[in-house]
Amino acid sequence: MNTKRSGELFEHAKKLIPGGVNSPVRAFGSVGGVPRFVERGKGANIWDIDGNRYIDYVLSWGPLILGHAHPAVVKTLRETAERGTSFGMPTMLESELARVTVDAMPSLEMIRFVNSGTEATMSALRLARAHTKRDKIVKFAGCYHGHADMLLVQAGSGVATLGLPDSPGVPEGTTADTIVVPYNDLEAVREVFSAAPGEIAAVIVEPIAGNMGFVKGKREFLSGLQTLCKDNDAVFILDEVMTGFRAGLGGAQRIYGLDPDLTCLGKVIGGGLPVGAYGGKREIMRSVAPAGPMYQAGTLSGNPLAMSAGLATLRTLLGSGVFDEVGGKTAKLAESVGAIGKENGIPVQTGHAGTMFGTYFLRRDGVEITDFETAKRYADTDRYKKFFHAMLEEGIYFAPSQFEAGFVSSEHTDDDIDYTLKSIENFMKMER
Ligand SMILES: *Cc1c(COP(=O)(O)O)cnc(C)c1O
Repeated sequence: MNTKRSGELFEHAKKLIPGGVNSPVRAFGSVGGVPRFVERGKGANIWDIDGNRYIDYVLSWGPLILGHAHPAVVKTLRETAERGTSFGMPTMLESELARVTVDAMPSLEMIRFVNSGTEATMSALRLARAHTKRDKIVKFAGCYHGHADMLLVQAGSGVATLGLPDSPGVPEGTTADTIVVPYNDLEAVREVFSAAPGEIAAVIVEPIAGNMGFVKGKREFLSGLQTLCKDNDAVFILDEVMTGFRAGLGGAQRIYGLDPDLTCLGKVIGGGLPVGAYGGKREIMRSVAPAGPMYQAGTLSGNPLAMSAGLATLRTLLGSGVFDEVGGKTAKLAESVGAIGKENGIPVQTGHAGTMFGTYFLRRDGVEITDFETAKRYADTDRYKKFFHAMLEEGIYFAPSQFEAGFVSSEHTDDDIDYTLKSIENFMKMER
C-alpha cells in the first residue's frame, strides 16, 4: 500500500505540531506505521491523501453515527453558515438541541452546552463540588473523562489509592482529592465512602467503558454506585460522552435504568463538530452561572454550526428506525468476530452495545477483561498491532490501539460488514 504522501506530510507536521498530531492516539504510537492523512470522507469510507480507501470503524472516535458528510448534516451546515457562524448571543438552535437532548435522556431536566467532552466533565465536577460543598471525587481506573488535571489519574494498586498524577505538569495538589478505584468493583467504592464520610462530592463513571477497550459496567455495579451516592448525598455523574446516542438513543442510562444526577455528553450530539454538554437535575443545574454562583462560560459555546449539525444528526436518528438498524449491524459484526475467533482457536473477547463495539485479542483462553488491570494483563497488544495493519492493508480502518472502542454508522452496508468479517477470518486463519 502506497503511503508516501502521508509519510511526507507526517514528517512535515512533526516539525510544526508536537508529534505531528493534535491528539496523541492519531500518531499510531501503539501500532507503529504511517498515520494516514485524510483527504476526504463520504458515508462509511475515508480516502487518504495517497488515494487509498478505508471502511471507517473509528468515525472520528464516535461522533459520526451518520457517517461522513451526511447530506442532512452538510445541508444544515451550509444553510447555517450562510447566516453567520458565531454570535456570542443566544440563538434558537441552542434551545432546540437542548429540547431534543433533554427529551431523549430520561434523567436530564436542564443542559448546558460546552465545546468538548473535556469541558463537560470538568464543569460537571466543578458543579458537583459547588453543590455539595465537598472536594473529593471518585473515578475508576481505565475510565477516561478528558484531559482536565484532576481527572488525569489512572490506576492505583490495591483497593483504592489516593491519586498521583498521570502526566507531568499536573500538580499533585490538583489530584489529591481524586480517588481512583477499580472499575466494576462496588465493594471498593463502599470502602471509600466509609473511609471518608461526608467528604465525597461525586462519583464519575463511564457506564460502558470505551477508553480501555470495550468493557461493560455490570448492572449491580452501576445501580450500586447510584445507591451509594444517594445514601451519602454525593452527586452521581454518568460520563456518556461516548455512550450518549451511541449505546442507545437514551444513552446507557436508559439501558441500565439509571437516574444519574448529572450526565456528560459530547461526540454524537455535535454531529462531527466540536460540542460537549453537561446536564441533569434542575435542582443542581440551577447553580450554574448566571442562574447560580458556579461559574462556567465559553466564547463559542452553543455555536450555531455545532448546534445545527447536532440537531440534524439527532433528528435523523430519532425520527426513524436507523439506530436499531445500525445496532443490528454492530451486533452482527461483534458476535461474528467472537465466533470466528472460536472457530480458529484465537482467544478473543468481543462486546457491543447499540452502535459501539469492542474486540480484545486475549493472551490466553479462559480469562475475562472486566477492568483496567485485567485489560492490561490479558489484552494481546502485539496481536492487535498485526491485526490493525492487516486490516489497513485490506482497506479497513479500526482504532490504532487495542484499548479503544469501535463504531458503526448508518452508512455501513451489509456488504461492508461481510467484507470486514471475511478479512478478519483470513487474518485469524493466518494466525492459527
Ligand atoms: C471522548 C471522551 C471524553 C473527552 O471528550 P473530548 O471531546 O475529547 O474532550 C470524555 N469522556 C468520555 C467517556 C469520552 O469518550
